[in-house]
Amino acid sequence: MKKFTCREIMNGEGGCDEVFEAETAMDITKQSSGHFMSSTDEAHKPMRDMMTSRPSQEEQKKWWDWFNGEWSKKEDA
Ligand SMILES: [Zn+2]
Repeated sequence: MKKFTCREIMNGEGGCDEVFEAETAMDITKQSSGHFMSSTDEAHKPMRDMMTSRPSQEEQKKWWDWFNGEWSKKEDA
């Protein structure tokens, strides 16, 4: 099990202190996407925009590669 804060998932570009816990990077992504899509504030806008702007496969892959790198660096909680 690993823990990520909303802020970490957003790479420090906004977000909040909400914590997500999951066994896989994919599960964190699923949990956090619900959180981002239900947000309405400026702090979450960059992520919300990214998710609603139908990013290209290349953009999605770039984010996913970045997040997987963060995931593997993270200690098990
Ligand atoms: Zn948040």
